[in-house]
Amino acid sequence: MIGAASLLEGQGSDGKVALANGMPLDMSRRVAHRRHTYGVQIVSYGLGAAVLLIYAYAGAITILIPSAFFVAGVSLIGLFAVLSETHINDRFEDHYLTVFQVAAHVMVQLGFLLAAPEIGYAFLNVLFLIFGVAALRMTTRQATIAWTLTAAGVAPIFLLTRIPIGLPVATATERLAAALCFVLTIGQCAFVGLYGDSLRKKLYRRGVELGEAYRRIEELAELDELTGSFNRRCIMRMLDDEIRRARRTSSPCSIALIDLDWFKRINDAYGHPTGDEVLRTFAITVFANIRNIDRFGRYGGEEFLLILPDAPDDTGARILDRLRAIIAELDWSAFSPGMRVTISAGVATLQPDETPDTFLARADSALYAAKARGRNRIASA
Ligand code: GH3
Ligand code: MG
Ligand code: MG
Repeated sequence: MIGAASLLEGQGSDGKVALANGMPLDMSRRVAHRRHTYGVQIVSYGLGAAVLLIYAYAGAITILIPSAFFVAGVSLIGLFAVLSETHINDRFEDHYLTVFQVAAHVMVQLGFLLAAPEIGYAFLNVLFLIFGVAALRMTTRQATIAWTLTAAGVAPIFLLTRIPIGLPVATATERLAAALCFVLTIGQCAFVGLYGDSLRKKLYRRGVELGEAYRRIEELAELDELTGSFNRRCIMRMLDDEIRRARRTSSPCSIALIDLDWFKRINDAYGHPTGDEVLRTFAITVFANIRNIDRFGRYGGEEFLLILPDAPDDTGARILDRLRAIIAELDWSAFSPGMRVTISAGVATLQPDETPDTFLARADSALYAAKARGRNRIASA
């Protein structure tokens, strides 16, 4: 025996995205979800009425009870559907109006319990289903209110009246109706469980998506859009971290400020978009030729900072000279015939008690010296 089945279904998405039929998308989704729940509820009342019909056929109740039960259920659902379609529901935080729905459906069941106490347990049985469904959506406060109201309805019937509540099982037909009454309710409870499972899966998927979005945001906040290298803020933080680590572990640390030579000419001769492509290709080439402990970021314009942990002076200069040669020997003619790109770099190795600023300033002076000596070369501070 069944009653108000799904008081819920479909989790309302709370991200306002776009308009559908002039409504925010999440609003129209909510209405659609609610419509779906009302459909399920009508089916549920239909099943309940069918079981009652069997009792009527068995002579335990009059035919009026199943008909009135179905009409009462559908009218109630219709009332909530009107509230839903006119968006009155959407004024409430819980747009399913769960407590109101629980209270109304419980009242229907208790009303029929009083009207046909000889099959009273069939209606009481439905209360479990109502709460099983509602529990998926109710807050602790809502659950307490709904339970208190239901208890206030059920307890007096047992304690203050002498109505004989029963569930006849004298004949085979009555036993069939009783069996169906429990089996169908348990079946619907099982589907509520499945719904809960789909909610959990949806929540899990949302969690994964959120994690992915968060990771992407973090990445965007750290990376330079054009070259994919770390942005200035991030590479400067990494420099601070690396200086601290080098001090703590008494290991050497070198840095290199790398600047593309005559880059303004490249822009002037081939255009700014080609200049961008050159910067990108330069960055990719550097990435492909540094150790995975090295950190490479855009310091500004066409100037980059390379952090070389565990690299003493000569190692740093050697790594940089190798990079310089690779860039100089790269075939840049794909961009434009005859194009040549070279870099100059100033390398510095961390000294005791040096601040990041003085460390960078020494690398910058070395870069200046490399430029002054004719470019396409490396200078050590
Ligand atoms: P030098 O060898 O002395 O470094 O000469 P240079 O021409 O490279 O030096 P300068 O600092 O005068 O010019 C750097 C140029 O880099 C100027 C600027 O327009 C260009 N630039 C900076 N950022 C970007 C960028 O994101 N894309 C492009 N295409 N050009 C950039
Ligand atoms: Mg330059
Ligand atoms: Mg420059």
